[in-house]
Order: sequence, then structure tokens, then C-alpha cells
Amino acid sequence: MSIPYNPSSPKADEFINHDEILDTLIYAEAHKNDTALINSLLEKARPKFNEKGCTCAGLTHREASVLLACEDPATIQRIYDVAAEIKQAFYGNRIVLFAPLYLSNYCINGCLYCPYHTKNKTIPRKKLTQDEIRAEVIALQDMGHKRLAIEAGEDPVNNPIEYILDSIATIYSVHHKNGDIRRVNVNIAATTVENYRRLKEAGIGTYILFQETYNRKRYEELHPTGPKHDYAYHTEAMDRAQQGGIDDVGLGVLFGLEGYRYEFAGLLMHAEHLEAVFGVGPHTISVPRVKPADDIDPDEFNNAIPDDVFTKIAACIRVAVPYTGMIISTRENEAVRAKMLQVGISQISGGSRTSVGGYTEEVRPHDTEQFDVSDQRTLDEVVRWLMEQDHIPSFCTACYRAGRTGDRFMALCKSGQILNCCHPNALMTLTEYLEDYASPETKRIGYEMIERELTRIPRENVREIAAKNIEAMRNGNARDFRF
Ligand code: SF4
Ligand code: SF4
Repeated sequence: MSIPYNPSSPKADEFINHDEILDTLIYAEAHKNDTALINSLLEKARPKFNEKGCTCAGLTHREASVLLACEDPATIQRIYDVAAEIKQAFYGNRIVLFAPLYLSNYCINGCLYCPYHTKNKTIPRKKLTQDEIRAEVIALQDMGHKRLAIEAGEDPVNNPIEYILDSIATIYSVHHKNGDIRRVNVNIAATTVENYRRLKEAGIGTYILFQETYNRKRYEELHPTGPKHDYAYHTEAMDRAQQGGIDDVGLGVLFGLEGYRYEFAGLLMHAEHLEAVFGVGPHTISVPRVKPADDIDPDEFNNAIPDDVFTKIAACIRVAVPYTGMIISTRENEAVRAKMLQVGISQISGGSRTSVGGYTEEVRPHDTEQFDVSDQRTLDEVVRWLMEQDHIPSFCTACYRAGRTGDRFMALCKSGQILNCCHPNALMTLTEYLEDYASPETKRIGYEMIERELTRIPRENVREIAAKNIEAMRNGNARDFRF
């Protein structure tokens, strides 16, 4: 008996409905050369400006799947143009920076694509003590980071929720020189409503959980053992997170595990489900691809996607869910990241080390890495590179600290008012970075950019306050200004 599709259902198989995905793929294939339909979809998705700001309609999973199926180069370029237009309307030229912090690679799951899987006996197992976390955080603060994403394997004995909560408290407690970590996002295994409530109380930013693959059958093959084997429990995790009070959740699939069109439709259906049930879509979507690591050969996964398809996926996500931040990590090299920034990525990691305890080591360690880092530049190099391409590196964490999360964040975003916060906040947090951490050349380029960009703040009073705060930071130790 077929399972009904229902975006509002609490059941994974109903809101991520296999038959609906298959129908979507057939529909997309049948319409991929339908120029009139594609034109109307692109017109629908384009930003619409009014006296209050700008709004975007987004696209459904079916509509966006038609764009993704399209193979005509000229049409693909138009998709990129609309994606860039949306990005410019909501994110301007700002890019938010963050770093991952690996706490522990103990894990009882058997995920076939991850070197931390329980059967891997060659990888050294390591779990940071609170003192070691303090040292890692100081190293991250000394680089200039303000926003972290903590990562840990699933292991109720070695990494219980109490360990995660203690670690968050430790991270927020460290204030080294002018540094502090102002937002801790959390990427840990699916858990209970009660544990999500405790994470919320600990002051986390976004709860991130990658689905890996939305195809149940493939999911079960790839997760043969451990609690993560339970597809429904994993897929319904974001609902429990919302019930626990976490209203900023981050989705993602690991591209390469299953056909990308299937994953793309599933991802958007997940976003539609959250919108239908909780009135707010995902805060972020991450787009990782399978990468080499200890005991992992990406060639064993036969759904690898080339760079041009990967870029098309990012552009189509940008067009479909315009208000959702999009994240790319150092899994990708400089050239891929440059292209992806143009079509809608709004957050990137920089200076990352993906091993447990990696930031306190002089030389990048590889023994406990979760994946090969393709972009190995320092944070200073990434910041300079962004500015050379006219992106403003932002270390802003203002919204979550001002209580602008979930539907309050989305309401602000949809009204276009976010532009009055993000731009000056980016310039002020960049000033902090330039004063405290940048090399002389980065500092020079940065202040030239700030001077230029200050004139682009539309509201005069906001412009004046931002300029005054920037001056105060340049002339002394005043820090942490925000709108
Ligand atoms: S992906 Fe996560 S759950 Fe799976 S083995 Fe790696 S750390 Fe463990
Ligand atoms: S003001 Fe809010 S939305 Fe804008 S960059 Fe800062 S945290 Fe993000």
C-alpha cells in the first residue's frame, strides 16, 4: 500500500514521501525543456522590491526540481543570474565566517562514509577534556573566530549530553585578550526533546543535523548499525528540536551518497515540512560532498557529482528557499568556493581543522580528521581573498543574541529590514577582526573596503552610529557593537 504524501505529518515517510519524490523526478524530466514554464518559475522566484524592502516567493520542490533538471546552458546561466540576484537582495556581498570544533570522535554508529564509524580500528580515538577545549577555543579566538560549530560522534558513554553541555559552557566562558565566542552552533546526533531543551537552555545558536540521504532504503544500507540506523528517528529530529524550543535548525545532505535530484527534492520537502508545521523553514542548509578520509574512498560511492552540477544545486536551493542561509565548508577547494559564493552561499568556514584537538597543533594533524580539508588557507588568507572578490567577511552573531531567532528572524528577513542590521554589523565585526587579528596587508584592504561600504548603508542614523563605533574600535579597546 502506498504511503500518502503529507507535508504537515509528523511521520518521516509522509513528509519525505518516496512516491512524491519519484513523481517529482518524472515531472521534472518531462518539463526540463519547457521554456515557458521555466521562464514563469524564474520570474516568480525573482526578488520583488517595494517601499518596505524586498520579498521573494521561493519555489516548491516540484518547481525547483524542473530547474535542476534543465540542461540548456543559457537557461542554467539564467538560473545562476536569478540566484545571484536573490543573494544580493538578502545577503548583499556579506559572507559570514565560522569554524568547526571537533570535540570527540568516539562513535557507536556504523556510517559507511565517515572515518569515525565504530568499526574503524585504525583511527585514534580522542575526546577533548574541558582544559583541552579551553586551549582550542583560545587558539580559535587568536585566529579571530567568533562563531563555532561543535561536532561530536554519537556515544552515550563517552559523549553524553552532559559532556556537550559542559563543553558549550566552557566555550562561552573563555575570553582571551579581546576574543570571545559569541555563537555556538551544535552538530550532534539526533536526540530527545528533553536534550534539545537542555541545548537551548545552554544558549546554542543553530542545531545542525545532516540527513545524509533522504532515500530510506539507501539510508538504511549506509547506516547498518547503531542508533543512527533508525531512519524515522533521524529524519524527525528537527521536529523534536523545535518542540524542545530550538527554532533555528540547519539541514544538509551529503551529496554523492544517492542521486542528487532525489536528495534535492527530499531536502526541499523537509524545508516545506518545517514551514508547514512550525511556520519557519530551516535557518541554514549545508551542501557537503563525500570526501576522502581514513578508511573512506569516495569512489566507492557511485553518485559523485561534478563541480558544475554542484554549483547548479546550490543555485537552485538559493532560488527555492531564498531566506535560508547556505553553508559551504573547507571540504571544497578555493575555485569551487569562489563559484558557489556567486550563486548564493552566505556562510563559509575558514582556517578549519577537522581533527579532534587540531587547532592547538603547530602543523595540521591528519590522524583524527573527519575529512580531507581541500581549502587549507589560514583565516587571514580567506578573509583577504573574500575582500579581493568584493565580499565583506562578517563575524556577526547579532540576531541570536538579540533574540531574533526562528519566526522572529524570518519575519525580519522577509520584511527586508535585515539589511539595516547585517551590513553595519558586518563592517563593525570586520573592524574587530582587522584591529585584533589581521596581517598588515589584510588590514589595509579591509579598511579600504569599510570606507567604501560605509557609504552604502541606506539609513543615515545607522551609518553615523556604525562609523562612530568603528572609530571607537580603531582608537581603543571598545568591542562588540551590534544592531
Ligand atoms: S557521521 Fe556522525 S554518526 Fe556517523 S560515524 Fe561519523 S561521527 Fe558517527
Ligand atoms: S544581523 Fe543577523 S542575519 Fe545579519 S549577519 Fe548578523 S546574525 Fe546574521
